[in-house]
Amino acid sequence: MALHESLDPIYDQVVARNPGEVEFHQAVREVLESVGVVMGKHPEYAQAKIIERICEPERQVIFRVPWQDDQGQVQINRGFRVEFNSALGPYKGGLRFHPSVYQGIIKFLGFEQVFKNALTGLPIGGGKGGADFDPKGRSDQEIMAFCQSFMTELHRHLGEYTDVPAGDIGVGGREIGYLFGQYKRLTNRYESGVLTGKSGVFGGSHIRTEATGYGNTFFVKEMLSARGQSFDGKRTVVSGSGNVAIYTMQKVQELGGHVVACSDSEGYVLDENGVDVDLVKQIKEQERGKLAEYAERRRAAKYVPNRQVWEIPCEVALPSATQNEITGKEADTLVQNGCLAVGEGANMPTTPEGVRVFREAGVAFGPGKAANAGGVATSALEMQQNASRDSWSREFTEQRLEEIMISVHDRCYATAEEYGMPGDYTAGANIAGFTRVADAMLALGLI
Ligand code: GLU
Repeated sequence: MALHESLDPIYDQVVARNPGEVEFHQAVREVLESVGVVMGKHPEYAQAKIIERICEPERQVIFRVPWQDDQGQVQINRGFRVEFNSALGPYKGGLRFHPSVYQGIIKFLGFEQVFKNALTGLPIGGGKGGADFDPKGRSDQEIMAFCQSFMTELHRHLGEYTDVPAGDIGVGGREIGYLFGQYKRLTNRYESGVLTGKSGVFGGSHIRTEATGYGNTFFVKEMLSARGQSFDGKRTVVSGSGNVAIYTMQKVQELGGHVVACSDSEGYVLDENGVDVDLVKQIKEQERGKLAEYAERRRAAKYVPNRQVWEIPCEVALPSATQNEITGKEADTLVQNGCLAVGEGANMPTTPEGVRVFREAGVAFGPGKAANAGGVATSALEMQQNASRDSWSREFTEQRLEEIMISVHDRCYATAEEYGMPGDYTAGANIAGFTRVADAMLALGLI
């Protein structure tokens, strides 16, 4: 898609200033494609160079993470924290531990986070961090050693009013525990609100673990209902088998959907009887094993190695693994097989070409920065509980999450209508998120 002429040079400048960071370029371009229509209505944004400022992180930290493995060998990883935008609140966003992590991935995630967080309507800015550390196959002791070293450097940049990390790929409840323990020890402060995704035993919130998956399901439920449909009996395919995928499958099943497949990095499982979510949870979370074992324990299920779930015919597709897994080719297959709705549980799992295919086919497409906002929204609820030294019930927290997801949906829907692109949730999300951040930046002066 061509950019509005005033945005072309800005995009070129982003590419020139951030060489080789292809994921970041992709995320910026996608937002710029949507906000062209806003610039005509708001000359004050161009005058204050809001877009140029939004594309430049407020602060970026890169640091060495030395640690010792179980064999006594010294290992060195690279840690990152990109504090992207704090116009709406403290920097907020997860930490990703994965070998693919480098500056371009953290910047793309941080950039997306800014608009996602704005869309929730809650007072949180955007940031992201992580390390090129591969947790796969590492012992508990090694994970702890890594987390302690990572936090030893990062803690000086954090604070409940400054920057509040959480989990992302490779960082779950266990890692957040070790990170918080080390933060507490270094600062001598029980500052619960400095990290979210904590366990219930030390200041965590109900539903935070489930929130991204539940939230994506609630978002898709709203998209379907805007078209007079529901999850009831809908054949659904999910990619991934981590935290987001597991709770997506659980909620879809609760709402009457028929989930037939999920995947991991080595292949997928197809279970026409409906995926047994408890079994996936046991294999992936407790045993930290591989999905191939699912088919060994459920004879009726089929395990297909080295292929993607998107070849399975379905009505609802919920990518919940990682970025860029649905290209134009997979999107075409999904459309031809009758897919009606896509909700991005992961961040940017669909390439721009894939998004175009869905848009042209009239598929209800929920972009990640809207559809997966439930995770960070519940993090903000966790911060609220920490700030008031309170703990809400599970029912109340889930109800708040659902209300927030309905409001995110409605905000995207209404904004797309207002700008003459009815049903285009990508445009709606980008414009609504962008204008909220832009207005706050204007109000705060040249920051
Ligand atoms: N990593 C999640 C996301 O991509 C959650 C971030 C958070 O809770 O701060 O939105």
